[in-house]
Amino acid sequence: MDSFAGAEVWFLTGSQGLYGEETLQQVAGQSQRVAAALDEAGEVPVRVVWKPVLTDAGAIRRAMGAANEDPSCVGVITWMHTFSPAKMWISGLEALRLPLLHLHTQADAALPWATIDMDFMNLNQAAHGDREYGFVLTRLRLPRTTVAGHVSDPRVRARVGSWARAATAAHAARSLKLARFGDNMRNVAVTEGDKVEAEIRFGMSVNTWGVDDLVAVVDAVEDKAVDALVEEYGDRYDWADDCRPGAPRHEAVRYQARVEAALRSFLEDGGFGAFTTNFEDLGGLRQLPGLAVQRLMADGYGFGGEGDWKTSALLRVLKVAAAGLPGGTSFMEDYTYDLTGTPKILGAHMLEVCPTLAGERPRVEVHPLSIGGREDPARLVFTAAPGAGVVVGWCDLGDRFRWVADEIDVVEPDEPLPNLPVARAVWRPRPDFETATEGWLTAGGPHHTVLSTALGADELTDLAEVFSTELVLIDADTTRRSLAKELRWSAAYHRLAQGL
Ligand code: MN
Repeated sequence: MDSFAGAEVWFLTGSQGLYGEETLQQVAGQSQRVAAALDEAGEVPVRVVWKPVLTDAGAIRRAMGAANEDPSCVGVITWMHTFSPAKMWISGLEALRLPLLHLHTQADAALPWATIDMDFMNLNQAAHGDREYGFVLTRLRLPRTTVAGHVSDPRVRARVGSWARAATAAHAARSLKLARFGDNMRNVAVTEGDKVEAEIRFGMSVNTWGVDDLVAVVDAVEDKAVDALVEEYGDRYDWADDCRPGAPRHEAVRYQARVEAALRSFLEDGGFGAFTTNFEDLGGLRQLPGLAVQRLMADGYGFGGEGDWKTSALLRVLKVAAAGLPGGTSFMEDYTYDLTGTPKILGAHMLEVCPTLAGERPRVEVHPLSIGGREDPARLVFTAAPGAGVVVGWCDLGDRFRWVADEIDVVEPDEPLPNLPVARAVWRPRPDFETATEGWLTAGGPHHTVLSTALGADELTDLAEVFSTELVLIDADTTRRSLAKELRWSAAYHRLAQGL
């Protein structure tokens, strides 16, 4: 699942006819240079495609319409190299349905003090051309990301890259199909949510299949497919002695491989990018999918336990945004605390933590599951690698969606965990345990999250902007007082922004 294959953003340059053909040719040449610098930048993971300079309302409208309709185009970058009277942009911008980046830049970084004349001034007037354009964007109440600076600056390229990742993630969300095997865990509140609203706002299609639809595929998997997967496990992971071929628990690993093969073909055949399971509703499955789910997450699929489709969809979206970055991204659950010294959170799940987080070679193990009443499932056991990251949860407040996030530092456990038979991560929340957890609870954040050491607060901010969704971000600067105020203001804003 290559996130950025074929994805492109269009680079649109604004000007006007007033300057004459010679100047417009210079605008074209220089804007091609800016677009090429972004296209070649390692920080920008998509193609940046230059389009001819726009000088009138009809051309602007046609360019925006073409961007909307092109399945490869995930977003639009605009830059007013010269002055481009912004009333010309109104109808085109109103038609645009893609994420928008307003790049406030200049062809060259240095001002040629000794030679500057009025020709240069007329050509290089983004300083006021972009102000004219920014006014109309604000007048239209258009959500967008604004980035100022020269493209030779790595920070500018990184911010454009972060926005392009968010735009690609939004594009993936619009075509995301999510398969739920069974419904939510009974009586659980936070994993519920409005699937119609999710499709209206984000485009994702969330539907349920009976788990026995999957069981039929499991039963049809050929032995040679199971053999091939077990051989791959042998190459990639360590094994507990009682799981090796010929050992008493090996058959449990083979059954989990059969589930993996079945899940893969079910998801591929249906064009699904994410899925959920529910240990209360396993039908004819002999084990809760564990190792199978872990390996699918590692390949980029979204997943949520207990029917949690929101976290599953969020995981898929964040995996798209994070593709190619160092670090990992996984389904996670805040499980238990160490409240001595600087408190830490131990996160895990029944089985399903993505091995992209692993700091060591994962180990195939089979152990009983204390709930669910099925056979002992195979799983990969490992500890997450240390590093800075975020946890993000998605809750449905009834009148709107809210993402709650916390900046964290994944750390090594204080001691080995020889009796804990699941993959886990240990982290310190920022700014500190009390502020972070009190803030999380006050914001109504869920217990299921996505933990990512590939993404940070900057990427989440761009994602929330592109998805037009509330983001409550708890970070190193958060205080109890600042967060309480933010939540009140944010509630008022989002009510007002919904209109009547
Ligand atoms: Mn759970």
